[in-house]
Amino acid sequence: MKVLELRASGFRNLETLRFSPCGGLNAVTGENAQGKTNLLEAMWLFTGGRSFRGARDQELVRAGAQEARLSLTFFSGGREQRAELTLRGGARQAVLNGVPKRGMAELIGRFCAVVFSPEHLSLVKGGPAERRAFLDSALCQAKPSYAIAYARYRRTLNQRNALLKDIARHPELEDTLPIWDDRLCRSGAVLIRERHAYLERFAPRASAHYAGIAHGREELRLTYEPSCGGDMAESLRRALREDIRFGHTSVGPHRDDIGIEIGGMAARLYASQGQQRSAVLAMKLAEAAVLAEACGEEPVVFLDDVLSELDGSRQLYLLSSLSGRQSFLTGCELPPRALGGTAARFLVRGGAVSPAEAAPVEAADEASGEALKEAAAPEANEPATAPGKPPEAAELPGQATDEAPAETGEAPQSPAADEPTGGAPEEAAAAPEANEPATAPGEPPEAAEAPGRAPDEAEPANAPGEAPEPPAPGVPEICEI
Ligand code: ATP
Ligand code: MG
Repeated sequence: MKVLELRASGFRNLETLRFSPCGGLNAVTGENAQGKTNLLEAMWLFTGGRSFRGARDQELVRAGAQEARLSLTFFSGGREQRAELTLRGGARQAVLNGVPKRGMAELIGRFCAVVFSPEHLSLVKGGPAERRAFLDSALCQAKPSYAIAYARYRRTLNQRNALLKDIARHPELEDTLPIWDDRLCRSGAVLIRERHAYLERFAPRASAHYAGIAHGREELRLTYEPSCGGDMAESLRRALREDIRFGHTSVGPHRDDIGIEIGGMAARLYASQGQQRSAVLAMKLAEAAVLAEACGEEPVVFLDDVLSELDGSRQLYLLSSLSGRQSFLTGCELPPRALGGTAARFLVRGGAVSPAEAAPVEAADEASGEALKEAAAPEANEPATAPGKPPEAAELPGQATDEAPAETGEAPQSPAADEPTGGAPEEAAAAPEANEPATAPGEPPEAAEAPGRAPDEAEPANAPGEAPEPPAPGVPEICEI
């Protein structure tokens, strides 16, 4: 997987640009507020995800402009492909290889990438919603059918929550609840199974990378922490009275967590800054490794402002782990010693991107080359990749967008609600290649015929005065809308 060329117009502060990176390490430098992160964000959107900064689509369009247009030419599946995105009025329109797509979910799995930005440090110290969002987002890319299962679960959850609120006012509606419980348990079981399977592959890799980063001083251990023990149906039954009282569902995969332990202690409570950074780095490298296995190709890696915070040996470990992958590193200054002599260098100034002169490395290239070999990561044994071939010039498409606006999301559910605001692949239900079950998205189940209000009619309405939860900042989310 390689980016060959990005074109952008009307995107944040970026000048109308054509950016042709190399197929290996791309070092993007520039002063603060020049557009470095914007450049990564523009490429990241082609994974089908939301902004990794948690920005809404409206914020991505340049202030005062009507729309933003992006086009990404990339090499994947043994051929050159081209995806186009138009952002306008809070909606996105996607075209892949000339074919208009119904939604962003159809891009998932076509262009695969992993991103690490400073906001991701909250993966360790933040709440469970951020770790679930990470897991869901990673799974959506590694297994696009997960996005369908996730969307189905969220839909059922929203409907059950709406019904719970109604039951408080109309107790007779409780008769219809078992149907929703059954649906929730069945779709929830798929999520839990897939998350376990993912963690089985992911956790040992993350631990191995952590050992490499921390020189084996302590162990990183990741475990799945379910909100209900074993039997979800029984847990739902036990929690029913409380759930009706608060109008939300308190158990299920939307409340599960990933336990992170470092040296046998809960990282959320005890990890130092350095340990957090190392753990997130290890998790991101593991995510890239699992994604590579799943797609049969190395994903592109975006590292936003990460290198400067790492000490020399961690920098070298990270860079050696990137070998064989196209990667993008940003920073106000990037240490030439660590980058060595092979990186392509770009300067971002006032939203314009231009090739930069290599900073003097003196004798450091040779030294760093040796150090890189020593710091070689477990899977970092691939040869360096040749720079990407710039594609033929082509104009950005002039398409209008009239897609439906983004979904409002779920209402806050209780004082303690920590529903995932990220990684919520609601839109995935629209994916045409999805193996949808007998029930079409939004199709009412049998319960809709039951007396009283049909649960499907019960939209996940916000309580009066309640706003939908915004996306969690910095969480890499997949498939919004
Ligand atoms: P830093 O080194 O501080 O991280 P950066 O080079 O990564 O800086 P970016 O986050 O990419 O900077 O942002 C660059 C500029 O883009 C900021 O000055 C910001 O005000 C501007 N910007 C962001 N969104 C928009 C928008 N929608 N329209 C116009 N300008 C925007
Ligand atoms: Mg930045």
